[in-house]
Formats: sequence, C-alpha cells, structure tokens
Amino acid sequence: MARAATVTIDLDAIAHNYRVAKSRAPQQKALAVIKANAYGHGAVAVAHKLEAQADGFAVACIEEAIELREAGISKPIVLLEGFFTADELDYICRHNIYTAVHNEFQLQAIADASLAQPINVWLKLDTGMHRLGFGPEEYKHAYQRLKAMAKVNSITLLSHFTSADDPDSPVTQQQIDIYNSVNRDCPSPMSFANSAATMRHSAAHHDWQRPGIILYGSSPFKGDNDEVQAQLKPAMTLSSEVIAIHELQAGDAVGYNGTWVCDKPTRVGTVAMGYADGYPRQAKNGTPVLVNGQRTRIIGRVSMDMLTVDLTGLDAELGANVEFWGENLLANEVAPWCDTISYTLFTGISRRVHRKLKG
Ligand SMILES: *Cc1c(COP(=O)(O)O)cnc(C)c1O
Repeated sequence: MARAATVTIDLDAIAHNYRVAKSRAPQQKALAVIKANAYGHGAVAVAHKLEAQADGFAVACIEEAIELREAGISKPIVLLEGFFTADELDYICRHNIYTAVHNEFQLQAIADASLAQPINVWLKLDTGMHRLGFGPEEYKHAYQRLKAMAKVNSITLLSHFTSADDPDSPVTQQQIDIYNSVNRDCPSPMSFANSAATMRHSAAHHDWQRPGIILYGSSPFKGDNDEVQAQLKPAMTLSSEVIAIHELQAGDAVGYNGTWVCDKPTRVGTVAMGYADGYPRQAKNGTPVLVNGQRTRIIGRVSMDMLTVDLTGLDAELGANVEFWGENLLANEVAPWCDTISYTLFTGISRRVHRKLKG
C-alpha cells in the first residue's frame, strides 16, 4: 500500500542509447554525461550500467565525481566546470579526475598547488556561448602557461555549442571555425559535441563526444517524430494512479481558480501527482497524458500533490494507471505544453516519487 507516484528507469534503454551515440563516431571516445544525478535518472545506477562500455563520464562538480568514485566507478571522469575552490585539487589529483579550466582563478590555483602527480586539464575555449571559458587570444596564453607546467600531464581543448539543436543556425559553423583556428596554434585533443552535434554535426566529432540528453532517450531536436528520436529508447517513465473520480456537469469548474470549466457532462479523474513530485505546475489545459494507455488531457491546474484529467469516454476506474511521459508518450511532446524542455522534466523529479530500476 503506497501512493503510486513512481519513476521507472530503464537502464537497458540507456545502454542502447549510449551505443547509438557511440556509433556516430565509433573510432572516437564518448563521455556519458551524467551530471545532475544523470539528468534525474540516478548517476550511480547509470554509471554502473555503462561502466563496461563507456569511455568515461562527465559531471558538473566534484561532489558528483566523489559519489561515483565512492561507488567504485574507475573510468575517467571530467568535471565540466572544473573546481570551485583550490582544495578540490588534492582529490582531483588522487582520483584521476580530469578538470575543466575555464578562468584565471583555476589556472593560478594549479600554478600554486603542489600536486602528488600530474593532472589532465580540459581547457575551455569560449567560442560564442559567453558563459565559461577563455576567448581565443586569452586561450593561447592560458595554453602556453599550462603547457609549461610539469604538473599538467595533458591538455584537451573543450568548448560547447550554443545552437547545435537548430540545424539551420549558422552559429555552429562559426564556432567550429573558431576552435579549429585556435587548435592550429594550440595542438591538442578536442571535445565539442553535445548530443545534438554528436547526432547531426560530424564535423564537430573530434576526439571526445559528450552526449547527455540522448542517453536518456530524448532527442535534442524539435518535433517529436524526428529520425534521431526514432533511434532512441525513452529511459524514464513517470506514472501514478487515479485516486478519485467525479461526474461533473456543464458549468462545473475544476481545481484552483477554476481555470477549467466543463462545457458538457465530464468524468474527471484526480491523480496522485503534483508539482511537489516534479510534474510542472505550468502544464496547460490540454497537456497530454495516458490513462490505461488511452490518450487524454490534463484539465484544471496542477496542484502540489494532485492533478486532474479528463476521463470522459475512457475505460478507466479507480486505480487506473496514468503515464505522464515515458515509453509511450515522449517527454518532448509534453514539454512544450509546460513551456519547457525534456531536460527540466527529467531533472525535476523529487525525492517523494518512488524509484524503480529495470535492466
Ligand atoms: C550538459 C552538457 C553536455 C551534454 O549536453 P546534452 O545537450 O544533454 O547532450 C555537454 N557538454 C557540456 C559542457 C555540458 O554542460
């Protein structure tokens, strides 16, 4: 007996999706990006599942790397934002973690540190995101300084695309031109491709791909039916159950502030799922859901612990299964109804939701 709100993670689907990503550039390496608890899928479980096949892992910060090392993961781990305080360098050094270096503070901290063994640096070039990294001229100075340090074992050129998910954007090629020109003066292995570039920009493949969202079975491209999506298997299914049913009349309002008013006799189901579980409160009237596999819609506002769905004409009794996204309903179809993207749906699942692992 328990509240039915459940997130089911299909680890075999994630392994399949990693193979899809890897097959785009089989001679190169692919880091599985498992930051933010593997986009809400569970970083330790995902890392164990992928450890035999993945070339390495990428996370956002040392806490996420420590969690993996403590769980026995021994493959390379890249800190995509590097370290935040100099005391992290000791751990980075002892546990063979590759660190991004994106600013002068990090550069100087390495220069000042006494390290037990040399470290591997992913030196970040700002090619247009204007978020982290050195501009092209600063980059060359930073590269020369690191190159001269005996405590730096290798340097990898790291940059990030702003618009690789938009096949029509000219910005991707501009970014490629910038890093190629920098790399002529600063020869090193290179890493640029996120999921979108892994799938659609072979000119950006180079030495290390960094697929994230596609590992979880969600295409980074718009439209829920693209050829990339067709190769992927959704890994996360969010589900719950109908806990109350009401037969309402035309004119009856549903939920907070009565944002839905029935225009005809309507059978309304209340479902144990709310924004405190991670289902977005922004979901508009009409957002698709599946009840016992039948497609219907959310009506009325999502509240903290519940939401309401239209059961009119459906085969659905108390306890009926409700799927919010997953195997049978793509997160990419639901996300626009909530003014968001699949990434925030996946990372937003809260602690209250039961977790089940498959595979
Ligand atoms: C999150 C992240 C990725 C993965 O991006 P996806 O769009 O999920 O594939 C790659 N590189 C960096 C630097 C990131 O922060």
